[in-house]
Amino acid sequence: MNDNALLERHQPAIGLDVLRLPFIGRLLRGRYGRLLLQAPFALLALALAVDGFTGPQSAARNLATVAPWVHLRGIVVLVLLLAGNLICMGCPFTLPRTLAKRLSKSGRRFPQRLRNKWLAIFSLFALFFAYEYLDLWASPWLTAWLIIAYFAAAFALEAVFAESAFCKYVCPLGSFNMVYSTLSPTGIAVKSPAVCASCVGRECVNGSYAPQPLIRIDEIPSSGTDETQKLEVAHGPSGALGCGTELFAPQMRGNMDCTMCLDCVRACPHDNVSLFTRAAGAELSRADSWPRRWDMSLLVIVLAFMGLSNAFGMVPPYYALQEALALNLGITSEWLALLLVFGLGNLLLPLVAALAAAWLGRRLTRFRKRDSLRDTVAAFAPAFVPVGFGIWFAHYSFHLLVGPGLIVPVAQEFFGGAGDWARWSFSLDANLIGSIQLLVLLGGFLWSLWLAQKTALRLYRRKALLGMLPWALVFALMMLAAWQIFTMPMEMRGTLELFG
Ligand code: SF4
Ligand code: SF4
Repeated sequence: MNDNALLERHQPAIGLDVLRLPFIGRLLRGRYGRLLLQAPFALLALALAVDGFTGPQSAARNLATVAPWVHLRGIVVLVLLLAGNLICMGCPFTLPRTLAKRLSKSGRRFPQRLRNKWLAIFSLFALFFAYEYLDLWASPWLTAWLIIAYFAAAFALEAVFAESAFCKYVCPLGSFNMVYSTLSPTGIAVKSPAVCASCVGRECVNGSYAPQPLIRIDEIPSSGTDETQKLEVAHGPSGALGCGTELFAPQMRGNMDCTMCLDCVRACPHDNVSLFTRAAGAELSRADSWPRRWDMSLLVIVLAFMGLSNAFGMVPPYYALQEALALNLGITSEWLALLLVFGLGNLLLPLVAALAAAWLGRRLTRFRKRDSLRDTVAAFAPAFVPVGFGIWFAHYSFHLLVGPGLIVPVAQEFFGGAGDWARWSFSLDANLIGSIQLLVLLGGFLWSLWLAQKTALRLYRRKALLGMLPWALVFALMMLAAWQIFTMPMEMRGTLELFG
């Protein structure tokens, strides 16, 4: 099979070209399109840092705590579900990327041993541990330092390494967004694989930015015709950057690792790549979407379990467990108890659950010899995305809906006015919030079941039911555990002083 046929075969189904929409498409495609989104986020990050360092050190009255820990997280999950990874697209931490690239003379690659998702799993674990142990949600000052640390880490890695190592391998927020943007109804794809097959420069990934200007002529046939089109591609400092996370547009199978920066769109001299609508979660039911690697599979599985433990840290049984650990095992140190609970709940439990489900599925179907344990886990890992997303959505929407208007008086006070607390300190009806939580938990669970069933059919054919049973059990237990947690009184972090 030639290159062209291969690319055609793997081309994901695409819908509407979002970048052809009248106003918004033109805006996003433009050279400074992303900047339009990043600029307000950068101003917001600046305001959070300023308020965090100089404002009132009360969680419910400071922008640094209310905006990210109450509002933004709720908005992030909604945007991922309805639109796509607009959060990474507007991420202000990569704003100094071009400057960093100019400083980066070496063009050094990120170490081969770290070019995987292990670091991302570690940074997610570290962030959730720090969030809980340091009570980040309650400390504007520490949250402001976290923002500074983020800018510094992103800049340093961009400056030292050729690729966007921070986004692809390190950033915990980016990892969260990338994993759950696989559910999104939009994604990057090429218009014509045939054009890519004969493209010489492959600027979508290489970029046309280079310290030394150079002119190259690409000769490519226009799609569907025999004509040869001559294009001048100006390489130089005014050129466009290629894909920072090193995705090659015609080979992309989904949104994993895509920050939706649209650099590929701007760099492609053939106008052959764009942002398209697609069936939500399309890549999750395809066998060839993700590489079959332990790190990739475990990132997705671990993240779903982290949703459970993150919520568990806010309900009374967690404190009872802490007391029991102190009483029975003599573990009185808070950090050690937390490390133990998170180590078990965030790392060991997902690993054991995935291995046990894969082992049992292979045994029940007698397919042990054909697929390795690693390949079986990799095949079912995408099915953890919806159930995990449901848990995160239920959790984050709770905090958002408990105090949706709080950001207004906090902002009023930040700008020197009087906060109208009486008017904006309202909460949505508890039954309504509970119904939303139940709906997203059930929706995520059923979606995961459907994906597991499709995977089992593909792997085990007539024995599909037996093969999917262990996975269905894991999803059901996760959903029930989440529901149990959400029906308990949960700490209203960030809004505690007002409602607690
Ligand atoms: S630069 Fe454009 S035409 Fe060339 S490979 Fe990339 S998307 Fe295809
Ligand atoms: S350049 Fe890479 S990360 Fe950016 S939108 Fe294109 S594929 Fe995604």
